[in-house]
Amino acid sequence: MNRFELARPATLSEARELLREKPSAKKSPTELRLEALFKVAWAANEGLDLERLLDSVVKIVFDHLPADRAVVCLAPNGPAGRKPEFAWKRERDGVTRVTGTIEYSRTIVNHVLETRESVLSSNAMDDTRFLAGQSIIDQSIVSAMCVPLVCQQNLLGVLHLDTERVDRAFEQADLEQLAKIGYQAAVAIENSLAHEEPRIFSESLKRLRRATQWLSSYLETEPILKEGVSTALTLLHVTKASILLVGKNGQTMQMGYAHGIRRELWDKISVAPGEGLCGLAAAENRTILCPDPATGKPPEGVVPSQRPKYKTDSFLVVPIQARTDELDQEKRVIGVLNVTDKLDGSPFTPIESQLTAILATQIGIALSNADLYEKATVCPLTRVYVRRYFDQRLAEEFERARREQSCLSLMMLDLDHFKRVNDTYGHQTGDVVLRELGAQIKSTCRPTDAAARYGGEEFAVLLPRTDLKAAAQVGESIRKAVAEHEFRVNEERLPLTISIGIGSIKEDDSSETLIKRADAALYAAKERGRNRVVVHR
Ligand code: GH3
Ligand code: MG
Ligand code: MG
Repeated sequence: MNRFELARPATLSEARELLREKPSAKKSPTELRLEALFKVAWAANEGLDLERLLDSVVKIVFDHLPADRAVVCLAPNGPAGRKPEFAWKRERDGVTRVTGTIEYSRTIVNHVLETRESVLSSNAMDDTRFLAGQSIIDQSIVSAMCVPLVCQQNLLGVLHLDTERVDRAFEQADLEQLAKIGYQAAVAIENSLAHEEPRIFSESLKRLRRATQWLSSYLETEPILKEGVSTALTLLHVTKASILLVGKNGQTMQMGYAHGIRRELWDKISVAPGEGLCGLAAAENRTILCPDPATGKPPEGVVPSQRPKYKTDSFLVVPIQARTDELDQEKRVIGVLNVTDKLDGSPFTPIESQLTAILATQIGIALSNADLYEKATVCPLTRVYVRRYFDQRLAEEFERARREQSCLSLMMLDLDHFKRVNDTYGHQTGDVVLRELGAQIKSTCRPTDAAARYGGEEFAVLLPRTDLKAAAQVGESIRKAVAEHEFRVNEERLPLTISIGIGSIKEDDSSETLIKRADAALYAAKERGRNRVVVHR
């Protein structure tokens, strides 16, 4: 439904028919002008697609006015994805849309956007009003005119025409005609935009819903951050998006994930609370949308820094909140989602700010869930899985191996003479050793393997789709890595070793027998002098 009545279709079609019957050459100037207006009204009634509407309007303009180029610049506060500039040029075989660099007199366009008054420059090269801006000279504009597109006192943009030919210089009558066409076109553009906004919004909501489903399916931080950033890129049509996360100290923020910032730079980024725009958004738990759509200026208390690396002045920073533990009812800011540089160069709108806030909420929920999951499955000291998770995983892998008739091996690891470390250096040093051992095991086994803390200083590694021989190789590389690792207490090097026992599943096995087999092999490794890998055959 159009919000504004344009013309009664019956009257319009009648008028159209009347004008159509008469050949162009016999029409009076008034009839020709009327015809142009009827055509615009007709085009406006035909559909609500903005680009098609502008295309029709500009073609009518070219039919009735001696222009060589036409540009529509929309006022820069439209919804996501709207291009602020559209251009056409007259060619031998008709009117074509200009892609790439769009040329027009920026000085004249800015003047009309500011004053809302039409401009006619019959002899532009000598028109001292607009020569300061250079574009008239650079683009050899001989004559130009520009009208505001105003509907219900809303400035939607401007329509600018120019010509490079002296014999086509515009006159006062041309400007009057263009102003009338501009008035009609503005009503149609307003209708089209009013229709486009909900369409874009509903498409964005669909995209967000899909992203939410993805986000809730991840239980690890990295894929959540990656998905969050990539959703922000497509949702907001931006070239730069990043997530900063509050670090372990609960104070400074570090780069979690970014698109448009080189990875080597991520580690160098550290933002203190209140520092810069991200620090401010986090410290005050507030969304920063710049420029403020109401004033066109930075919001209160925001001083944008010099941003040489960015293409536009517009940016959006939204805090990410999360519950930090299960009992925590209140949410805390755990980071910020940052977007900038829209592809079409336009500034962010309030709707986009709201959509980004919804995305940030979803990222926050997914990160809280991942955090809870990690707390439930990962040992905080050694960073390998806890026993409960391991038992569940063993049952699953056992079932899978049965189903697929694939191999499954299990490795048991135990530190040699660990009691001595505790006795000599104390329990705390023993803990440091366990933490380092956890890191060693994790970095040496493969991504598909699952390492867990099985008992005090005993670890288990599950090796799916791995036979005894391959498992023995993995075991040997872990044993070697630990024996060569420099565990240190103060300046003293602790010579530490581990013993490893390995078993694989056999026909008519159960997960319990698999554990027993690996345990027996570990016992044998200790018996035979430690610091070795023993395989149960
Ligand atoms: P072996 O070569 O026969 O394995 O000798 P061992 O001294 O390592 O003997 P055992 O495996 O029985 O020793 C287990 C020791 O590990 C006992 C305990 O003090 C220590 N331990 C178990 N859990 C922890 C822990 O969380 N922190 C620290 N520091 N020590 C632990
Ligand atoms: Mg031991
Ligand atoms: Mg032990």
